[in-house]
Amino acid sequence: MKSLYFDNNATTRVLPQVLDAMLPWFSDQYGNASSSNSMGQQAKDALISARAAVAAFLNASPAEIVFTSGATESNHMAILGALAANPSRRRIVTSEVEHSSTLRLLTHLASTGIEIIKVPVKPNGELNMAALAEAVTEETALVTLMHANNETGAIFPVAEAASIAHASGAAFHTDAAQTSGKIALDVRQLGCNLLSFSGHKLHAAKGVGVLYVRKGFVLKPLIYGHQERNRRGGTENQAGIVGLGVACRLAQEYISQHSEQTAALRNRLQAGILARVPFAKLNGTTASVGNTSSICFSGMHGEELLYRLDQVGIIASQGSACTAGGTEPSHVLLAMGLSRDEALASLRFSLSRETTEEEVDIAIETVAAVIKGMMAALPAVA
Ligand code: PMP
Repeated sequence: MKSLYFDNNATTRVLPQVLDAMLPWFSDQYGNASSSNSMGQQAKDALISARAAVAAFLNASPAEIVFTSGATESNHMAILGALAANPSRRRIVTSEVEHSSTLRLLTHLASTGIEIIKVPVKPNGELNMAALAEAVTEETALVTLMHANNETGAIFPVAEAASIAHASGAAFHTDAAQTSGKIALDVRQLGCNLLSFSGHKLHAAKGVGVLYVRKGFVLKPLIYGHQERNRRGGTENQAGIVGLGVACRLAQEYISQHSEQTAALRNRLQAGILARVPFAKLNGTTASVGNTSSICFSGMHGEELLYRLDQVGIIASQGSACTAGGTEPSHVLLAMGLSRDEALASLRFSLSRETTEEEVDIAIETVAAVIKGMMAALPAVA
């Protein structure tokens, strides 16, 4: 049995065209882009071409692109770099629903005396913009907000948030790990100084990512070395970067021509599940990326549902972090006002450009059947 994959917000399949572009860099073309010999020059040329593709994808210029190992590293570089760039300002403003790669770092920074303000979200997943405006002061070094949420897909009004940040002289960073490859990104329109994303969320390889750094924004490196114009040291992830360039070109094509098909399939999936499971409800109803659906199956044990679905070939995920002591409810869903039980009863289904209508229809039927089976096994209430 081939499983049907609905966990594309966690990671995506490397596309065949991306893999084909990467393979030579693991075999015959193994030059180092810093070497002045001919093999090094070929590697350097390939990096130039990939950088141009990534820049076009973001409407940036090639010199504004720094290749990293992924969004986690890019987020760290952005946050620590922006803080170091403005040492007299000791406040960072963020949201309650950021990815753990941001929140963990901010928790660490709070322990060193940096003031961290987490702006709340509304029950529909929308960012509380009034609270954001109040939180950003002359003390604020950086506002860092995700572009879209990884659990619900909710999109934050990043351009508006960037203007609020800039009005107080703060820098603005957005974590676009969940919008890259799903909606068009334009760093000029977004108004950000810094933007992060990871290759593996848009059908490139794991271990490669990007930090966009707006021209003129001087950022202290995390890793010292001459590569990436002294902004990120270490021999480049040549194959990963080449693959990312191809993935960005393909993503641009997909976004302009086919992303609405994915949104229609997502809508079909959630409407189908809601119709077949009367007690299911959507988490987050604000504008969202078109591939993500977070659904609360009130009264169900989410972890068990997830496991049972996996057993019959439907791979989804629970918007929660597994810890040594068991599964913790999602901080995102709790911030939206769900109870602990509701959060633990929620599953995330995330589609990709490869998802088909047939797969969606199988998923609807399977979810309904598995839930029916689980309900039938419950002891009858006297
Ligand atoms: N930010 C967001 C919003 C994400 O969804 C993820 C990946 N789940 C990351 C950052 C981190 O990406 P990576 O693990 O590739 O560094």
